[in-house]
Amino acid sequence: MTQHFIVIGNPIAHSKSPEIHTQFAAQAGIEISYQRQYCPDDAASFTAVIEAFFQGGGVGANVTVPFKQVAYDCCVARGGLSEHAKVAGAVNTLLLNKALLETGTPIAEAIYGDNTDGQGLVNHITSLGWPLKGARVALIGAGGAARGVILPLIEAGISDLTLANRTLSKATNLVNELSAASETIAQQQIKTCSTDELSGTFDIIINATSIGLSGDTLPLSDELSGHYAYDMMYGRALPFLQHFAKRGAQTSDGYGMLIGQAALSFERWTGHTIDVVKVTKTLQAL
Ligand code: NDP
Repeated sequence: MTQHFIVIGNPIAHSKSPEIHTQFAAQAGIEISYQRQYCPDDAASFTAVIEAFFQGGGVGANVTVPFKQVAYDCCVARGGLSEHAKVAGAVNTLLLNKALLETGTPIAEAIYGDNTDGQGLVNHITSLGWPLKGARVALIGAGGAARGVILPLIEAGISDLTLANRTLSKATNLVNELSAASETIAQQQIKTCSTDELSGTFDIIINATSIGLSGDTLPLSDELSGHYAYDMMYGRALPFLQHFAKRGAQTSDGYGMLIGQAALSFERWTGHTIDVVKVTKTLQAL
């Protein structure tokens, strides 16, 4: 029987999720339909769309810009949230809470939210063979993407985390907020600084800013070096990676993170584990 999935966003035409999940389904040997779902940019429309989807027999939905926080609010009031979604304050994966359904809760009230973005990054870095256990990590950026990866990075066993951002107050506010939300994060004692003041040697330096969209370059200190550099952006030349590659670092863009977070959503929905490296190679060859 065909299982139905959607990705909801605005805009949505550019989303690669249908192609990615089609490859997952081929690997898992199951039949799925995965559609792009446009939604007007307001909370009421979002709620109406997802309720209709799940009531119509839909199995799972991905949520993308600009609805990740709206999806969070929706699940708080309904079927609940995973720990990663709670701490991230954002949801990228929706499914039905089966335990609630078994108690007779109506479908619309059982919509549950998870966030697989951060674990997708951790899984990709691990698959690259970059050691996370005991790593000194610098994370640049204090927006939604940075917020979602901090707990999974700490859970992966990094020893030290410095959060740098153009607007320093946003970095310190984020650390305070996350420390209040999670004991694991509170115990990490994350350092903060402005991006241009970030210096020293790190094992891994991660760019979680959106600067790559503008083609501008980050103001990086000459005193900053890393063994590995990761940019969450993908699909274009990235000055951040070029900067560290010239200094001898191994580098990666965020395409594998995109596949990694999608694979975790697929696993939550279907119970099938995906060989991400294999699917990434197939997709890159298309
Ligand atoms: P947000 O808009 O929430 O945050 C943007 C961040 O970038 C802020 O920290 C902001 O700093 C910083 N920034 C923006 N412009 C500049 C600049 N010119 N100079 C210095 N810093 C700048 O974006 P997100 O956190 O949602 O996304 C960040 C990036 O991560 C995007 O490129 C997105 O595509 C990518 N991403 C990739 C994923 C994947 O699967 N590969 C998943 C999720 C995101 P300030 O606070 O000072 O404004």
